[in-house]
Amino acid sequence: MTVVVVGAGQAGVQAADSLRSAGYDDRIILLSDESRAPYQRPPLSKDLLVGQEKLSPLPLRTESFFASGNIELRLESRVESIDRRRKLVHLADEVIEYTYLVLATGSQTRRLVLDGHHPSVARIHYLRTFDDAVRLSQSLKNCREAVVVGGGFIGLEFAAVAVRRGIEVTVVTPGARALRRTLSEEMSSWVVDWHRAQGTRFLLNHRVVSVEPVDETTIDGRLLATTSEDTVLEADLMVVGIGADPDLELASAAGLAVDDGIVVDETLRTSDPHIFAIGDCARVLGREQHGTRHESVQNASDQGKHVARSILGEQEAYEAVPWFWTIQGPHKIQIAGLMDAAVKSRRIEGAHQERFSLLHFDADDTLVAVESLNSAADHMAARKLLRPERRPLRWQEVDDPDFTLKGWSKRASSSAEARAVV
Ligand code: FAD
Repeated sequence: MTVVVVGAGQAGVQAADSLRSAGYDDRIILLSDESRAPYQRPPLSKDLLVGQEKLSPLPLRTESFFASGNIELRLESRVESIDRRRKLVHLADEVIEYTYLVLATGSQTRRLVLDGHHPSVARIHYLRTFDDAVRLSQSLKNCREAVVVGGGFIGLEFAAVAVRRGIEVTVVTPGARALRRTLSEEMSSWVVDWHRAQGTRFLLNHRVVSVEPVDETTIDGRLLATTSEDTVLEADLMVVGIGADPDLELASAAGLAVDDGIVVDETLRTSDPHIFAIGDCARVLGREQHGTRHESVQNASDQGKHVARSILGEQEAYEAVPWFWTIQGPHKIQIAGLMDAAVKSRRIEGAHQERFSLLHFDADDTLVAVESLNSAADHMAARKLLRPERRPLRWQEVDDPDFTLKGWSKRASSSAEARAVV
């Protein structure tokens, strides 16, 4: 038996690792189209840009891990197509046979398109790969002013680092508030206020409509960005963080079901029983009507673990609690659960002003998500108590003035244990 994994990011590497740890001892081939050993992406918009002279990627596993686990990691090995009938993947100069195929192709950064074209300006940056971060880091050395396009996590993480380096930052975002897709209004206001206090300027309800070089004779110099509200910004560089799209190229060409993600069932199997999909590129059809697709380390890593069990014959449904974190300057924001169904929230204060958690409840008064600011203990407790097998926390239970998530979680698990003993 041979398991071929396409993509050696967080999800693909975890799948290979978990297969080996579970005792699978046949061939595992891990194919990556990148030239570097697998590395972590989160630092690319955070610590890595803070100002070290020589950047190095943070590896996903040690150098010896792949050889010692007998995992055949092949770099610069792009899969070009899948022959499902004969169970083969085609690379530029090689064909590999699989018993099971795992697609872990991740997502692709959305590029800025204005009037149907990518602007012809050299100093536009994106953040997806280590090479992107190296290029940006070099440009930051001579940068005084930067424009961030998009008010999401990556753009704001960059803004926090840039301001710390003495750079003037303007964030241009089409929404009425930044971080509106991922954080509640209360938490995003807190984060934006913090950024403003550091000196970052926000142009809300603005879109960038044109980007041109200041000096028309060269595309390498400073740039001029004009917004939909006719604000003109001159800057040394622009960072674009307008989201990512699942990489569906291989799956679509192979005729697998796709719908803003490679569609998989609860065991992470695609419409072909010999092919699985995990991580950023997969949409899991579960209890939610349209299924769920997440772009996070937790999702990639938990699906990597789960797919190994599915390949080895388990039929268990994937239902890990989703969680995510972002670092905004000195602050860590963590989110556990899904906020889609939330209709009301309660705030629990921490020991000081820059530490609190927001508990979000649905229309049935059941806790569905927790956002925590600098409150790792609340976040960890939330991840436990949001598990489907746990008794749900109700809105009324938070009324107790001494309520803490950790305390409630402990009490709930000990009373469940007591019931189990009886
Ligand atoms: P990827 O890591 O994208 O890996 C997919 C790999 O497959 C890539 O190497 C790709 O080149 C390769 N590939 C694609 N097609 C082929 C092919 N045909 N043949 C061979 N190889 C192929 N998440 C958090 O939870 N917290 C954070 O703070 C956070 N910060 C982030 C900051 C940045 C700058 C970025 C870019 C992401 C961040 N994320 C964060 C998201 C998180 O890193 C991703 O969700 C996660 O890495 C997804 O893992 P993956 O394995 O699904 O995809």
